[in-house]
Amino acid sequence: MTVPKLNEILLARGLAPVEGETAEKFEKFASLLLEKNRLFNLTAIESEEQVAERHFADSLALFLDPAFRGGRMLDLGCGGGFPGIPVKLYAEGRGIPLELLLMDATAKKIAFVEEAAEALGLRDVRAVSRRAEEAVEEFGRESFDLVTARAVSDMRVIAELAFPYLRVGGAFYAWKTRKALPEVEDALPSVKLFGGREEGRIPYGDGVFFLEKCVKLSPTSPRFPRKYAQIVKKKP
Ligand code: SAH
Repeated sequence: MTVPKLNEILLARGLAPVEGETAEKFEKFASLLLEKNRLFNLTAIESEEQVAERHFADSLALFLDPAFRGGRMLDLGCGGGFPGIPVKLYAEGRGIPLELLLMDATAKKIAFVEEAAEALGLRDVRAVSRRAEEAVEEFGRESFDLVTARAVSDMRVIAELAFPYLRVGGAFYAWKTRKALPEVEDALPSVKLFGGREEGRIPYGDGVFFLEKCVKLSPTSPRFPRKYAQIVKKKP
């Protein structure tokens, strides 16, 4: 059972537990994920408790931000659907409107995410297999209220991928561990160049993890994002 563990963590963080249909959907998503892992041997087989802690509760750290209001969200480099799907499930349970675009470069991961979204009966969710730096015009420059990225790349790299999608006033959240603090600090001048500013850090899990939250103050120059090789190679 995934939900008892999930609710234990949510309560400890002062967040409302998941109940009823939402709880059922979290259980179902955990089963789908574990089943997929067994079939494809994608990662070391995880227990339901590990799924609750490492994937679900970790994704839901977004709700620790009291300013979170839903809206149009891009989950960049979503992999198996994190943080996007847990965020969508929790928002649905709390009546928060959320239109979600899940994006990943790997088609196999998107196929799983599509199948899961369908099985969970999620509305206003779309999953696309694209490279983020190549899909800005297609999905809307300066048009998302929030962009999330967990375990995708360095802060500087993901900031360049994320900011072009954000509308002015929108927020970018990066899931980071304490060890990544220097990397995050290092990226802040680039964030500024993309039209953003660091809003703050939202710590969780005894301070081992945090969400780096940046807000967008002005439009991002159309010269961003650059080609991936350039982004990685050279500071903007
Ligand atoms: N966010 C998920 C997956 C992390 S793995 C989680 O936390 O579990 C990183 C994922 O980012 C991979 O699936 C990879 O395909 C994707 N990714 C990396 N660079 C990308 C890019 N430029 N555009 C789209 N997806 C990218």
